[in-house]
Amino acid sequence: MTKKQVYNFAPGPAMLPRPVMKKAQEEFLDWNGTGMSVMEVSHRSKEFIALAQESEADLREILGIPANYKVLFLQGGASSQFAMVPMNLLQGGKSADYIVTGSWSSKAYKEAQRHGKVRVAATSKEQNYMTIPDRGAWQLDKDAAYVYICSNETIGGVEFQEVPDVGPAPLVADLTSHALSRPVDVSKFGLIIAGSQKNIGPAGLAIVIIRDDLIGKESERLPSLLDYAHMVANESMSNTPPTFSWYIAALVFKWIKAEGGLKVMEQRAIQRSGKLYAAIDASGFYKNPVDKPYRSRMNVPFTLPDEKLDAKFLSEAKAAGLEALKGHRSVGGMRASIYNAMPMEGVDALIDFMRDFEKRHG
Ligand code: PMP
Repeated sequence: MTKKQVYNFAPGPAMLPRPVMKKAQEEFLDWNGTGMSVMEVSHRSKEFIALAQESEADLREILGIPANYKVLFLQGGASSQFAMVPMNLLQGGKSADYIVTGSWSSKAYKEAQRHGKVRVAATSKEQNYMTIPDRGAWQLDKDAAYVYICSNETIGGVEFQEVPDVGPAPLVADLTSHALSRPVDVSKFGLIIAGSQKNIGPAGLAIVIIRDDLIGKESERLPSLLDYAHMVANESMSNTPPTFSWYIAALVFKWIKAEGGLKVMEQRAIQRSGKLYAAIDASGFYKNPVDKPYRSRMNVPFTLPDEKLDAKFLSEAKAAGLEALKGHRSVGGMRASIYNAMPMEGVDALIDFMRDFEKRHG
């Protein structure tokens, strides 16, 4: 029986590269000649330590991470970082500036309020989070402990296309849903957060890249697992890390290197998203509400002219092998998440389906 071709447009956990999944399948029962699955091997074994070190080296190479930054592989997902960032970086009566451009920066701001003084320095709330406020209108506090952005809002589909200049305060950015989809200049950030379950691997990991001078400011006060300094000192292995997720992430980094790195990932992302937005804009049936310069290359929300068609669209799409297109419950409509692992054929199949659906219902 030939298996049905499925394209998975889920926002995360999301589609992973086929060659990575095949490799994991091949060595599922015998990893690295150990005769055991990677899941059954101690995180303190020399094989696993080698994997951890090599994965960090690969990530450093892919992203060009400068030597004065540490890389952490943490548990608790990206959301734990919403707390860890203020717990670790907000001290001395300072406050932090948040740029609120959608659900995830809003969540980060609300969480940070529990841990210290924070301000909203700019928000697109009045524009229904469909844009990013002009940099000139941000009201930054020159003494802020840090400035926080979510550089790709997964739900709204709003992406920073450039790293904003925020002056002397360290820039903290949640890159979760577009990490590794484009080159970034890490030296422009104080701290980067990237949850794993989109472009990095399965759920369970959050990668944190942190500049040396920001580490260890609040160590005495914090639970050790929530203290960046403690996790740095223990090379992310203070306790048992999610070894399987880490292993898959390591394979994903190798895959990105073999494909040609982040420039190639970026070219593909531009092609995929460009084609899909062009089809939406040309249709008169489908609409994407996001301010064009800030449209996300990773998450493409779109609506149909009548909500009553949504259920039909989703069930017919599913029958055609196009999975998980339902938009987030807070926005409605559809959302196609097209991360690194999505081949162009998947986007073409979606566009063909959308055109056909429009013909029948437009
Ligand atoms: N930030 C962004 C931008 C996200 O898209 C998500 C998850 N979709 C999170 C944070 C939260 O991630 P987690 O569920 O791993 O805590």
